[in-house]
Amino acid sequence: MISYSKQNISWFDAFKVFRALKGAYLTQGPATLEFEKKICHYTGAKYAVVTSNATTALHLAMLAINLNEGDEVITSPITFVASSNSVLYTRASIKFADINTSNACINPDEIKKVITKKTKAIIPVHFAGQPCDMDKIFNIAQENKLYIVEDAAHALGSTYKGRKIGGCHNSDMAIFSFHAVKNITSGEGGAITTNNQEIYEKLILLRSHGITKDPQKMSKTEGPWYYEMQELGFNYRLTDIQATLGIAQLKKLDIFSRKKREILTKYKNDFQDFEEITFLKEEEYSSSSFHLCIIKINFKNLKINRKQLFEKLLEKNISLQIHYIPVHLQPYYQKLGFKKGDFPKAEEYYEQCLSIPLYPSLKENDRKYFVAALSQLIKENKI
Ligand SMILES: *Cc1c(COP(=O)(O)O)cnc(C)c1O
Repeated sequence: MISYSKQNISWFDAFKVFRALKGAYLTQGPATLEFEKKICHYTGAKYAVVTSNATTALHLAMLAINLNEGDEVITSPITFVASSNSVLYTRASIKFADINTSNACINPDEIKKVITKKTKAIIPVHFAGQPCDMDKIFNIAQENKLYIVEDAAHALGSTYKGRKIGGCHNSDMAIFSFHAVKNITSGEGGAITTNNQEIYEKLILLRSHGITKDPQKMSKTEGPWYYEMQELGFNYRLTDIQATLGIAQLKKLDIFSRKKREILTKYKNDFQDFEEITFLKEEEYSSSSFHLCIIKINFKNLKINRKQLFEKLLEKNISLQIHYIPVHLQPYYQKLGFKKGDFPKAEEYYEQCLSIPLYPSLKENDRKYFVAALSQLIKENKI
């Protein structure tokens, strides 16, 4: 089976994890701190907090800005449900703003339209690795006194105007995912980067039950064993086992991105004569680390629809994916009052999108097999 994505773990990475298992720490320990330091170094952020996954990272980020019932947060409907769910966890409300057709990222002009007095934050999602137009979003946030939490789950390694995503040059926080299919993996895992010390300290506290052992931060001490729970926090920690894998993977991130770019360039070349196929645009102001390779297929002049195409590819042992079903069309979100037709660009995009195989270890033979299969299906079905 050829799939759209696949993790890339070397025997060397595996050996490091094996060694970590015999170390003094299994849960949060020195490897966690080292991973955080390396994430800071890579992104240019002052602080990094690693978490059990990006969903808990998003939840902590929402708590760090004191999000609460009555507040509103704006994000894109074309994202994984975690982006908007994190807002709902705090009992705040979610608002969506429609996307740009060219790159499937949130459209800053659409953000402006849904801002109200209750709006507290924007969560731009750097879709497929392509950064959103952060300068425009930053200006909107400044004018309206809003926080920006970048959902950079796809975008570790991407740059915006020459700066690495995660440096938080024009945001309050950025969150990353180290889930198996993302740019690098720690099995499950996430991180938040920020340049704000107050936010950082809050994140650290909430990641571990709201408990501090720092004598400087406690109201009193009763002895060396003493700790204080000061907020209602969670256990959202990453283990040292996972952090060890994360550190090994981070070293290879740039190599992974380069390989993916090479593969993507070949696809663009192979499909250049197919007017039905378009690639998501990589804007001049940025470079993508290509979490996904997404093509849009215009089915208007084809005898098959996307479902049929998807199934025919499955018959040929090619297992692709769709990123994403627009969040506002999920039954849970429909119960909140969203309905079909609310975000036409997102819905149109959903009808056309297809994530095709893109991962560093993709064999050229497999890539060619896929290209031949898709090309044939399109040629056969032209009207
Ligand atoms: C994967 C993903 C998440 C959640 O990541 P987990 O680490 O699986 O919790 C959040 N946002 C986006 C855009 C994602 O793709």
